[in-house]
Amino acid sequence: MIWRSEAGKILQIEQGDITRVEADAIVNAANSHLAGGGGVDGAIHRAAGPEMRRELDAIQARIGTCPTGQAVATGAGLLPARFIFHTVGPVWSGGGRREAELLASCYRVCLAMAEERGLESIAFPAISTGVYGYPMRGGAEIAIGEIRRHLMEGAKSLGRASLVLFGEEALRIHEAVLRGGAV
Ligand code: ADP
Repeated sequence: MIWRSEAGKILQIEQGDITRVEADAIVNAANSHLAGGGGVDGAIHRAAGPEMRRELDAIQARIGTCPTGQAVATGAGLLPARFIFHTVGPVWSGGGRREAELLASCYRVCLAMAEERGLESIAFPAISTGVYGYPMRGGAEIAIGEIRRHLMEGAKSLGRASLVLFGEEALRIHEAVLRGGAV
């Protein structure tokens, strides 16, 4: 499903494996230790190979941990991208710990990092909606809200953002949110 801003900027919602998506930047749902893990993080680490791991280790040695809601950039190793933005989403603990604000920050920070580098395209997974437990519907509202706002108001170089959903249920929920209807 595709949404277009008046200026022709595109938000695409698709089902797939983000390690196979071609985009200038691919976003990884990392953990604060930048240590690699399961889910999309594990898949990106496996597919990108040791060069990206080395870059991430060097960043980790320099900064220690990456705060929740922030991100760091590496090259993409073997992936069909120029950069990986490793962002740390919030762990869901009921909604009272600024989870929504922190999740929105992940999307905003990555979009800003893409603009700083003059990138034209970026692909996001559904950050925090796996092991970190963020409810899919709420996560979709934040992802789509932040990306659309950026494409309408703040986009310079970026012409396309994709949300790459792993499962059919995640795709259905994101499509429903984009249509603005009931899930
Ligand atoms: P988090 O710890 O931020 O919740 P996860 O990796 O556990 O991160 O899950 C985030 C989302 O990414 C989940 O919706 C999960 O289904 C999805 N996911 C897992 N593997 C992939 C992949 N290869 N491509 C795209 N999305 C994926």
